[in-house]
Amino acid sequence: MKVKELVVPGSPLGTAEEFVAGDNAYEHVDGSVRATSIGFKDLDEGNHEARVQRLTREVKPLERGSVVKCVASLIKEKMVMVEMLEASKDGEPRQILNSFATIPVFNASMRFVERLNDLFRVGDIIEAKVAEVTPYGIDLSTKEPEFGVIRGYCVKCRGPLQLFDQQLKCVACGNPETRKISTHYLLT
Ligand SMILES: [Zn+2]
Repeated sequence: MKVKELVVPGSPLGTAEEFVAGDNAYEHVDGSVRATSIGFKDLDEGNHEARVQRLTREVKPLERGSVVKCVASLIKEKMVMVEMLEASKDGEPRQILNSFATIPVFNASMRFVERLNDLFRVGDIIEAKVAEVTPYGIDLSTKEPEFGVIRGYCVKCRGPLQLFDQQLKCVACGNPETRKISTHYLLT
């Protein structure tokens, strides 16, 4: 089997004497035909055409187990409503078709949750796992230690919260706060 040669914009594909520039290729002033995009080199000897087959990477949709970064938009009694900002699974980006999702209270923590306001506040940046994708929406979970708030803001002055010895405190006014924090909580 012939190994496909990967090229990048500017890579020479052949000479202008041998080939005309086909798809995703151009004739350079130095007399070579070069690639205009990333992809596989495709030389059509019959038609004397040098082309590049573009790499099309299909982005799969969200599914159970995907990890999302989201911002808390509304804290209700039984759920947190969030807007998803980015998603991935096993390091590959995932497509967010509808950015709205919820964290149901029973998915929020391993511990008993009295008030969701003790775990999350509007504006917090949260990392969560997709627990379920249904026709009605996406349920997220922050039960595991690596999930939860990765960036929180002071309810009094909106200053960023920093972690001091497992205790969140506002950098600006010193107000202590509680959250369900992720082990990935951003330190600065
Ligand atoms: Zn503050």
